[in-house]
Amino acid sequence: MTRNKTVLISGLGIAGPALAFWLKAGGFEPVLIERSPRLRTGGYVIDFWGLGYDIAERMGLTEDIHRVGYHVRELRVVDGHGRRVAGFGTSVFRELTKGRFVTLGRSQLSQLLAGKVLGTSEVMFGDEIVGLEERKDSVCVQFKHGGARQFDLVVGADGLHSQVRTLVFGPRHQFETRLGYAVAAFEATNYRPRDEDVYVLYGQPGRMLGRFTLRDNRTLFLFVFATGNAALPDTPDRQKELLRASYADGEWECSRILDELGRTPELYFDEVSQIRMPGWSRGRVALVGDAACCVSLLAGQGSALAMTSAYVLAGELAKAAGRHEEAFRQYEAVLRRYIEIKQAGAVRFAGALAPKTRWGLWFRNQVMNAFTIPGLARFVVGREIIDTLRLPDYCWGQAQGATAGAVPACPVSRDRF
Ligand SMILES: Cc1cc2nc3c(=O)[nH]c(=O)nc-3n(C[C@H](O)[C@H](O)[C@H](O)COP(=O)(O)OP(=O)(O)OC[C@H]3O[C@@H](n4cnc5c(N)ncnc54)[C@H](O)[C@@H]3O)c2cc1C
Repeated sequence: MTRNKTVLISGLGIAGPALAFWLKAGGFEPVLIERSPRLRTGGYVIDFWGLGYDIAERMGLTEDIHRVGYHVRELRVVDGHGRRVAGFGTSVFRELTKGRFVTLGRSQLSQLLAGKVLGTSEVMFGDEIVGLEERKDSVCVQFKHGGARQFDLVVGADGLHSQVRTLVFGPRHQFETRLGYAVAAFEATNYRPRDEDVYVLYGQPGRMLGRFTLRDNRTLFLFVFATGNAALPDTPDRQKELLRASYADGEWECSRILDELGRTPELYFDEVSQIRMPGWSRGRVALVGDAACCVSLLAGQGSALAMTSAYVLAGELAKAAGRHEEAFRQYEAVLRRYIEIKQAGAVRFAGALAPKTRWGLWFRNQVMNAFTIPGLARFVVGREIIDTLRLPDYCWGQAQGATAGAVPACPVSRDRF
C-alpha cells in the first residue's frame, strides 16, 4: 500500500512538471501550483544533454526537443570590430554525447514538460503558498488566493528564490553562495546581422555579451557581468540602467543592443548564485531543482540536474511506497555528491565565461583556440560533459504519455540504461 499519495508541488518550471510526471508514474497524486498566471515564455536558451536528456527520452520528448531546439555549430569570440579572435566548432559536444545534445529555450523545455502533466494532474496557476504547517499525518497549506488545503507531502520546485525553502528552512542568504556575477537576457525581433547556429560572444574584462539567432526573425542577447558584492537593482528600469552603465563603453554591437534593451518589455535579470543546503528536506517537505541545489548557469546543466533530482525523488518515493523519511534520505544519498561536484565545476568555470582581466580574456581565448588541436577539446570538455552518475532504475507503474517501452514497469533490467 502506497502511503502519502497527495503531493503538492510548488513551481511549474523544469523540476516541477518532471516531478509530477514521475510521481504520477509511481502511483501518486501530484497537484501543481505556479505563481505565474500562465506558462512562462521567452527567457534564455539552455544546452541540454546528459541525464536530463535521458529522462526526457524516457518521457517520450526526444523528437519534440530536437524539433524546437537548435544545433549550434560554432562558438565564436569576436573583438570590438566583430572580427573573430577565438572559438571552436561545437561538434565535440555532439561527438561526446553521441548526438544527444541540443540547445533550446528554457521556456520551451518547460512547456514540453508541462504538456506531459497538464490535463492529467491538477494545476493551479496564478497562486502561491504563503503558509505551511506540518501536522502529524499531513501538511496544511495556506494559499495566497485559494484558501487552505491538506496534502500528505509538499515539494518546493520553485527555483533559486524558492518560497517553500524560505517558509520551511529560513531566508535565502543562509544557503546562497553569490558567485560575483549577474546575468540578464532578452529577445528582439528584426535584429541584424543573423548568424544561424553560431553563438557569438564579445568580451571585455568582467563583462560578456552574447548573441544567438533564434527562429522567427528573433535574436537572443545574454549579458554576464561581474558585480562584486553590490546589491542588485530589483526593478526592470533600474536593471536596464545598470546594464547600460556597465556596457556603455563597449564596442562591437553594444550600443545597438543597448538600444534594443531600451525597447524590450521583458527582461530576465538575476544574480549568479548557487544554493548549498545541509539537507534538502524537513519533515514532510522536500526541495528539488534550483530550490534545493542550484548549480547556476555556469554549470550549463541546471535544467538537467533539476530533472534528475525530480526523477530520483519520485523514484525513491515510489521505491519506499511513500514512506517519506526513507525516500528523502535516499534521494540525498543518491545525488548529493554528484551535485557538489557540479557546483565545484561551475565555480571553476566562472572565470572562463567572463574573465575579469585583459590577461584572463587573452588566456581564455588561447585555450579556446587550442581546441582545434585534435583530441584536446575532447579531453578538456569530456571531463565536464560526461556524467559520472548512472540514473537509478525504479519500478514505475504506468507512465502516461511516455514513449512505449521507454518507462519500464517492474521488474526492470539494469541493462536497459
Ligand atoms: C542565463 C542562464 C543560462 C542557463 N543555461 C543553462 C544551460 O545551458 N543548461 C542547463 O541545463 N541549465 C541552464 N541554466 C539553469 C536552468 O535554467 C535552471 O537550473 C533550471 O531552470 C532550474 O529548474 P527549476 O525547475 O528548479 O527552476 P525554474 O526553472 O526557475 O522554475 C521555477 C518555477 O517556479 C515558479 N515559482 C517561483 N516562485 C514561486 C512561488 N512562490 N510559488 C509558485 N511558483 C513559483 C516560477 O515561476 C517557475 O515556473 C541557465 C540559467 C540561466 C539563468
